[in-house]
Amino acid sequence: MKTILAGAALAAVAVAIPVASDAAQIHGSGSATKAAPTALASVNMEAVLKAAQIDPRRADDTLTPGAKSSVLAVEQALQAKGLLDKKWVDGYFGTTTVKAYTEFQKSIGYKGLAANGVPGKSSLAKLGDKRFTVNHALTPGARVTFRGATVNTRTKAMLVKTEQLLGRKLVLEQGSYNPGGDPTSAGTHDGGGVVDISVKGLDAKGKNTLVRTLRTVGFAAWSRTPSQGDWPFHVHAAAINDPDLSSQAQHQTGDYYLGKNGLANGAKDDGPKVNPIQTWEEFQRQS
Ligand SMILES: [Zn+2]
Repeated sequence: MKTILAGAALAAVAVAIPVASDAAQIHGSGSATKAAPTALASVNMEAVLKAAQIDPRRADDTLTPGAKSSVLAVEQALQAKGLLDKKWVDGYFGTTTVKAYTEFQKSIGYKGLAANGVPGKSSLAKLGDKRFTVNHALTPGARVTFRGATVNTRTKAMLVKTEQLLGRKLVLEQGSYNPGGDPTSAGTHDGGGVVDISVKGLDAKGKNTLVRTLRTVGFAAWSRTPSQGDWPFHVHAAAINDPDLSSQAQHQTGDYYLGKNGLANGAKDDGPKVNPIQTWEEFQRQS
């Protein structure tokens, strides 16, 4: 008897609180019946993006430095939506979390690149509704034409800075958002953040300087040779942390962090090292 009464009382409270809370929000009355707000977790989008590129490529379960609490908050939100099993809620943005994030993006009607498993500003805000706030948010920006190729405004700014540091203009051989445009690129140019740059007239030192400068401003960049694939000499560059990266390009930026060459053979990075590896946003804060 006592138990039944207690249960009924609890049920009444459970119903009453949301009603009072909604009313308070709608009318902005700020009445005493409004539920006390709990502090929301804080998610660093830059850190989550980095983990989403690197963690799926790791051979072990090392966490991406500085990303744990943010990734955990994202994973807890995915778990709450029934998209991620509890055992994967661990601060490691591995392939299972990428898949769960893709499912979340699809569940809110996102398609194609917008459902690439990498958190974008708007999907992250939707996932974090009433759960977490987002700091260090970034967007790829609109698609524009730069040096005859399609890139987004974030990539364009990175290339402009590269030109400034080099003291010359770049010649782009392929831009971004080019699905199926070049079968030899294996899908890396399907999304945003990726360009091929001409090395015509450059000697080994010139190519090295180009790659190092691209890396300095936040690209994963490599000098490619005809011996590596069905392509001429060129430099391939993928903008780290671009939310529009195709999944193949995400793998390349992740591999770059892990000291690899970004090709299917997973060989050692053959380019000039920049230390520490930096994103465009990190480069801007530092310079
Ligand atoms: Zn390329």
